[in-house]
Amino acid sequence: MTLEDYEGILAAQDGGCAICGEQSADGQSMHIDHAAESVRGILCVCCNNALGQLKDDPELMLRAAEYVTLGGFARLDIVRREREQMQEPDTR
Ligand SMILES: [Zn+2]
Repeated sequence: MTLEDYEGILAAQDGGCAICGEQSADGQSMHIDHAAESVRGILCVCCNNALGQLKDDPELMLRAAEYVTLGGFARLDIVRREREQMQEPDTR
């Protein structure tokens, strides 16, 4: 990959990370994200690490997004609510 390739990809990404759009302050800490033989894009350190932490698995990423969007795993609320009801003193 040439410097021109890198700059062309970064320009196509409006100068920032392909995921979050963050621009590297020093221009040094952007990662070239490879998939097999090709380049998928250029990522900031955080987004590159996030992909790795989620094993580059789209299903895990969607589940993480759902988890964050719902404020947790919905069924845990149900379990907690049921447990709280069981612990309430008998008011009859
Ligand atoms: Zn990013």
